[in-house]
Amino acid sequence: MNKILVVGAGFAGACYARTLAEHGYSVAVIDKRPHIAGNCYDYLHDTGVRVHAYGPHLFHTSNQRVVDWLSRFTDWTPYAHKVVARLSDNRKLPLPVNLDTVNEFFGINLESESAVRHHLKSISEAIPRIRNAEDWLYANIGKELTNVFFRPYTKKMWDLDLSDVDAAVVQRIKIRADRSNLYFPNDTFQAMPTNGYTTLFSKILDHARIEVSLSTEFDKKMLDHFDFCFNSMPIDEYFGFKFGRLPYRSIRFHLTQHCIEEAEPHTTVNYTDDGPFTRETWWHNIPDHWDGKSAQVLRSVEEPCDYRDNDDERYYPVKSSDGSYDRLYEKYREEAIGLAKMNFIGRCGTYQYLDMHQVINQSLSHCQKWISENSNS
Ligand SMILES: Cc1cc2nc3c(=O)[nH]c(=O)nc-3n(C[C@H](O)[C@H](O)[C@H](O)COP(=O)(O)OP(=O)(O)OC[C@H]3O[C@@H](n4cnc5c(N)ncnc54)[C@H](O)[C@@H]3O)c2cc1C
Repeated sequence: MNKILVVGAGFAGACYARTLAEHGYSVAVIDKRPHIAGNCYDYLHDTGVRVHAYGPHLFHTSNQRVVDWLSRFTDWTPYAHKVVARLSDNRKLPLPVNLDTVNEFFGINLESESAVRHHLKSISEAIPRIRNAEDWLYANIGKELTNVFFRPYTKKMWDLDLSDVDAAVVQRIKIRADRSNLYFPNDTFQAMPTNGYTTLFSKILDHARIEVSLSTEFDKKMLDHFDFCFNSMPIDEYFGFKFGRLPYRSIRFHLTQHCIEEAEPHTTVNYTDDGPFTRETWWHNIPDHWDGKSAQVLRSVEEPCDYRDNDDERYYPVKSSDGSYDRLYEKYREEAIGLAKMNFIGRCGTYQYLDMHQVINQSLSHCQKWISENSNS
């Protein structure tokens, strides 16, 4: 077993390719897009602003193994992401909800974490069994904060009411009783690859035993030329949607150019209104994302939609509170067990919402395991 096909040049595919190549395998990486780096792909716009083509990718983790592995291929620029939510009266409040959000929203003046916790408890609902995102939010921050900060956003983002969304989706955004306004308050490492993600990927894939072919779509006939395949394409698509389509949300990005004087001081502003857009990103506010030579900067505004309405660009697997989509995925996963020469990997191969550090960690572990199990074959 020596020749391996890797479908997808995102983080899952790149981690597999590099690890396999370093263990002596010959690896062919294909991607249907004309670029490497999957959804992390970034580029330098004419204005001198670095843009992430598929939305802002902020690197954050507490996993030292992942940091050590990536640090072989990049330097880092420290950056701890912050987000504000814009209310209907144009006030901008910290998100995740923290001490300052609670004070400004309710017009009160709590000064300690215990006072905030006590206040949140007093406005929260007693919910005996958490069945969905709405239950979890009502039980932790009460109805008023939920209905402003989460309900319209969730409807736009997922096209689902909060009561139909899995609690895990909103639990990703931690509620704070202190003044921390970091979007990822618990992660010990928060930084951006100094020369961008695309450069980082080109270094990961730069190995004598890795060959990359772009604008190349997977075809089952390719398997005849390889001993094994790690595949990050959507698992339902591979099986011709025989059990039905796995749903994904996608995003249309609207990129506009502005004078620096018009720009927000915040990298990301979330919209709490009922309109079609969820948030805006001002790229120049991320360190190393603007050379400052032109007075023009860029803003991306995000408009979520079904992936079928955006050229089949699958971004977020939908996690419903009734678990129906996970059950549908399970049928495909069982079908895939029967494939002798293929493992599905990554976000669309395994139908999971994975942050970058999670997909890297998973890919490094699973690839090492596969290598040790197959080293004699
Ligand atoms: C809008 C958005 C914002 C995000 N923000 C963050 C963030 O701030 N922090 C964070 O940690 N994570 C973030 N993520 C998650 C991050 O993008 C993923 O963790 C990561 O991209 C997963 O890597 P992957 O290799 O599984 O998938 P991808 O990056 O999607 O790579 C899969 C590749 O496979 C290719 N492919 C698919 N089908 C075929 C086929 N049939 N033939 C050939 N090639 C094919 C695709 O073209 C794609 O390039 C965000 C994701 C999105 C969508």
